[in-house]
Amino acid sequence: MPLIKNRFLPILLTLFMSFQSLGLSDALLKAISKKGYTTPSPIQLKAIPKILEGRDVLASAQTGTGKTAGFTLPMLQQFLANTGQHQGRRKIKSLILTPTRELAAQVLEDVKTYSEFTDLKSTVVFGGVNANPQIKTLRQGVDILVATPGRLLDLHNQGVINFSGIQFLVLDEADRMLDMGFLRDIKRILALLPSKRQNLLFSATFSKEIKTLANSFLDNPAMVEAAPQNTTAEKVDQIIYRTNKGLKTNLVIKLITEGNWNQVLVFTRTKHGANKLSQKLEKADIKAAAIHGNKSQGARTRALAGFKEGSISVLVATDIAARGLDIPLLPHVINFELPNIPEDYVHRIGRTGRAGASGKAISIVSVDEYAYARGIEKLLNIKLESTVIPGFEPTESLHEVESKKAENKAAHNRGGRNNSRSQSNKPSQDGSKKRRNFRR
Ligand code: AMP
Repeated sequence: MPLIKNRFLPILLTLFMSFQSLGLSDALLKAISKKGYTTPSPIQLKAIPKILEGRDVLASAQTGTGKTAGFTLPMLQQFLANTGQHQGRRKIKSLILTPTRELAAQVLEDVKTYSEFTDLKSTVVFGGVNANPQIKTLRQGVDILVATPGRLLDLHNQGVINFSGIQFLVLDEADRMLDMGFLRDIKRILALLPSKRQNLLFSATFSKEIKTLANSFLDNPAMVEAAPQNTTAEKVDQIIYRTNKGLKTNLVIKLITEGNWNQVLVFTRTKHGANKLSQKLEKADIKAAAIHGNKSQGARTRALAGFKEGSISVLVATDIAARGLDIPLLPHVINFELPNIPEDYVHRIGRTGRAGASGKAISIVSVDEYAYARGIEKLLNIKLESTVIPGFEPTESLHEVESKKAENKAAHNRGGRNNSRSQSNKPSQDGSKKRRNFRR
């Protein structure tokens, strides 16, 4: 009985609660209604009242839960009372830090949407592009600034940014910021901000480092959770197709072509794997692009834009590159390889079935990954459906796969001479530094 209560209470609450009942003003309600939202998401229901009370908040929420509106709406609500009193230039009141340029741009888009019927001004700064237009906008004065840490510090050092009016700080996807090595920048930024402010930290996972960071600047935070990590998978139809390693690419091609799927996110464990698969899909006449940390900003933006507008059907991504991408209503996610960290599986499949729609998560699994599948089942506390597609039967034993891996490794260590000749002839994209293969 308690299980039923835990599972359904948030859904029941969502049905009965409205944005009006959260105490948001007409200007915000109008923007919400224009955007087409009818009911607050669970994270919004939990976070908005706490933020409106002025509390610091520590939130466990990943992309796809509606977390951006969860912090933006109450932030705007708090500022609304004080608008219209700008003497001289506006001072930045709110700083929203994000790990990537893509996420920063998406958050700004959301902030602009929700503040459309207010006179609050917002902008974004991130690296990889000319700073002059950003400086020009900042000089005109903004209330809300969305930023990636590096460019923010650069601009602050140039004297373009004044932090003295900051009342509100959001660290969005804090775990990813730490993964990307931003801890020092974050600490520097925290030291520059006025000490009296409201702080929010959003993170999908809570490592020791995140907890330490949270303790260092949150003041008696309210804890809110979007959905326990092991229940986010409930809406998603999940299946495992068992096959041989060498058959995976053709199986993916078959599924996408025969299913006529035209918006598929495929996860690989390595950047090299993402490139290789995307090239093979292209050869099979499937419009594909790879997105990972080695791609230039321009290439990443083009790939994402193409995927959103439909000129690219398949986006092949590594775990880190995919986090933070806002791709609504994604019908299919394919795990080309299972992640060795079960929580990453939950993040991956969380990309489908968003905003109430159902999605399908397919995992193509070879014998050496069965242990990962068991780890995932343990985390989710479910048994994943597993089947075989005729023509793609798994025939390799674990021993065979492991020996092949060992042979490849030995050949690689010998510098790719002898039997790995065909591989070593390829450009060194996989290559030269083996350890890099395991970085995402
Ligand atoms: P986020 O987790 O902030 O990246 O939001 C994920 C997606 O959900 C975005 O496309 C939002 O526009 C959408 N969204 C946010 N809040 C709601 C809501 N209350 N109802 C429906 N969709 C929403």
